[in-house]
Amino acid sequence: MWKKGWRDQIWSEIKQPWDIIIIGGGITGAGILREATRVGLNALLVEAHDFASGTSSRSSKLVHGGFRYLKNAQIRLTYYAVRERERLLKEGRGLINPLSFLMTSFPTDPLPAWVMGLGLTVYDMLAFRWGHQYHDARELRALCPQLTNPQLLGGHRYIDALTDDARLVLRVIREAVRNGATAINYTKVDGLLFNHNKKVCGVIIRDVSNESDVHEVEVESQLVINAAGAWSDEIRKCAYGSSISPKQHHLRKLRGSHLIFPQKSLPIARAISAFHPDDSRPVFVFPWKGVSIIGTTDVDHTQSLQTDPQISDEEIDYLIRVGTTLFPTLELKKSNIQSTFSGVRAVIDTGKVDPSKESREHLIWHENGLLTVTGGKLTTFRLMAKDALFSARKWLSVKIPSITSQRMLDDPPSDVIWDSTVDPSIRLALLGRYGNDAPRLVANAKTDEFKFIDQCQTSWAELRWAAQSEGVIHLDDLLMRRVRIGLTLPEGGIPWLENIRRIVQSELEWDDHRWKQECDSYIDLWKRSYSLPSHLGNKTKT
Ligand code: FAD
Repeated sequence: MWKKGWRDQIWSEIKQPWDIIIIGGGITGAGILREATRVGLNALLVEAHDFASGTSSRSSKLVHGGFRYLKNAQIRLTYYAVRERERLLKEGRGLINPLSFLMTSFPTDPLPAWVMGLGLTVYDMLAFRWGHQYHDARELRALCPQLTNPQLLGGHRYIDALTDDARLVLRVIREAVRNGATAINYTKVDGLLFNHNKKVCGVIIRDVSNESDVHEVEVESQLVINAAGAWSDEIRKCAYGSSISPKQHHLRKLRGSHLIFPQKSLPIARAISAFHPDDSRPVFVFPWKGVSIIGTTDVDHTQSLQTDPQISDEEIDYLIRVGTTLFPTLELKKSNIQSTFSGVRAVIDTGKVDPSKESREHLIWHENGLLTVTGGKLTTFRLMAKDALFSARKWLSVKIPSITSQRMLDDPPSDVIWDSTVDPSIRLALLGRYGNDAPRLVANAKTDEFKFIDQCQTSWAELRWAAQSEGVIHLDDLLMRRVRIGLTLPEGGIPWLENIRRIVQSELEWDDHRWKQECDSYIDLWKRSYSLPSHLGNKTKT
């Protein structure tokens, strides 16, 4: 799948009429593609940039019920999300893993620990599992010695789950493609097609990979689904032929940012959930692939919407304050930050003063033949897909069988011939990340390639596989999303580029000139969107 020539093959067949065309290759589009193919629809997904390059690679990576939604009395959202968490933990072992949280309690918190305990009881009951327990400050410090703030009263231990968001998207898309779907990245929707009733009946798409001569192509379908996340309003404007009337839904774009620290600066083995000392918003600190992450902010994103938004100075200060409050003896400073990342979510604008009060539930609506699916969470992508297809039924001449609740992720393969040096925890991680591609990944690995790249829990074998078979067009697709070393290695992995080149350049079939160009744009991108803003001391060596 996605071997040499795959894009040309898709472009040569793309003009056929489709049952549905999905705009956007984030988790929402991926889930719809997977479910649509499963019910027998002929489905095409087009992504303007790389798969998962939007918000779906920039989340907090939690597969969770969203304990905070319970506080806002959104029991329905929490119920569905915890049920989905339980399902994903079962189906996606190795990709979605249980994560132990400590929820701290301080005298300044807006709610006392006993109220949080009640909330966690409800949270556990919704999941049909009992996993939380109260600990006093001494016991909590035994579980996480870095919690040295003398004001700490104690807190609860509970269980949620953690994933690699971009890999989740890719696994869902690849399983859909294996099932007969078509998905292509670097293919942008520039406009919509309308039938004689002025209803949307297709899209105008353009190859933006710079790898082919195809310019604009018109492609028809019975239904177009807009799963363009924070970019959805741009597509909706095409459906209206102008601006969106004030009577229609309007999207509010909220940016959330994270700081990444090397383990040596923030050595935590468990996740911490706390209220921010400034505004009592829930924030998280968690270990992920060999680094520690603090997030997130929730601010209106007023800048133009690019694929790679940037953290602001204020957000950095806000997040550092969480670290210094929880772990005063670690003396976290800006100079300890390894990298940063920011994502923009779309929520329905109801005009709330506090962005965090806007609902995170997903919404589906229909405008002039265009079905828009937006909001929601990474965790609930399967439910969003099912709801979208349920709404789509009346526009499709194809009969959709009632949508079952089959597995969302395929059973992992049982025929992998493992190298004896690969330990069981790495085997499980590879099965989770690559699903039914794992046997070929393992077979293609060269001697010693299961070693991790430095401390980052990603092996050289994964890099080789991704370069060979996972639809990489640019270097950032490889380093930021297929494997996550752009986030988990110091300086975005730039000091490792020569070693990386030895493995991937021939797999990607890039000559030296292309390699240099790709490295230059990767370094530029990393400095712009993933490092500290330059005036705060971005000292990358190139
Ligand atoms: P996106 O992932 O943004 O995908 C939309 C895609 O559409 C993009 O890739 C874009 O390039 C493409 N596109 C746009 N215009 C066009 C066009 N013209 N043609 C073709 N393609 C186009 N949820 C959780 O469950 N757990 C979490 O821990 C969590 N943390 C979060 C933290 C932050 C900071 C944020 C912002 C969100 C978080 N969420 C979390 C929510 C979750 O990440 C989002 O709901 C989800 O990723 C949205 O996915 P999407 O597919 O709708 O949008």
